[in-house]
Amino acid sequence: MQSIQESYASIGEKILTYHYQYKLSERLPVLVAVSKRQPDERIDFLLELGHRDFGENHIQEAEARWVKRKNIYADIRLHLIGPLQSNKVRQAVALFDVIHSVDREKIARAIKKECDAQQKEIPCLIQINSGDESQKSGVAPTEAAALIGLCKKELHLPIEGLMCIPPHSEPSAPHFALLNKLAKKHDLPELSMGMSDDYETAIRFGATYIRVGTKLFGERIR
Ligand SMILES: *Cc1c(COP(=O)(O)O)cnc(C)c1O
Repeated sequence: MQSIQESYASIGEKILTYHYQYKLSERLPVLVAVSKRQPDERIDFLLELGHRDFGENHIQEAEARWVKRKNIYADIRLHLIGPLQSNKVRQAVALFDVIHSVDREKIARAIKKECDAQQKEIPCLIQINSGDESQKSGVAPTEAAALIGLCKKELHLPIEGLMCIPPHSEPSAPHFALLNKLAKKHDLPELSMGMSDDYETAIRFGATYIRVGTKLFGERIR
């Protein structure tokens, strides 16, 4: 646990340093602690340190872990960072506080419908497949404008920003730059980008959410 405390402090320090050095976003980037496939005691330790923003990518796993913890800590903000299937939208809307992975019209419509039914408003980000990778979810950069327009104008979904996961084999910086440019063009304030290996670069390119798992908690289990 001591190593988690050290990593947490070190990431926090880097967030501060880079933010004030480059001053690219209005507020300090928020660390989304990616808790997927991490042992419960590591997560509880971070909660005890006062951290409240956590990211998960599987609905079922997130439910098992977070329903009870959200009852204990009312101010937890749970971020969905993985792809969403239509048949899981109801559960996702019930559990999550921010959705980072809106990537197609069908899912946007389903989220809107479910938010109305549950009388909930959930800030959403559109996931951009910045590397145009066929196996990766996200809308292609060339189709982003259409999806953003639909969400904002027709569905009135609260779209606050963009998210991307750059290809493994490439430097992240050009992808982060592209995401930043695209967000500015569409007047979207939030940028969810940067993971364990590239979160420092992401902050330099204006990230407002960084999603860090292993650098913070250690290796995942299972
Ligand atoms: C797992 C995951 C992360 C965290 O990855 P690490 O390399 O462990 O920091 C971030 N974003 C998404 C979308 C993920 O699925």
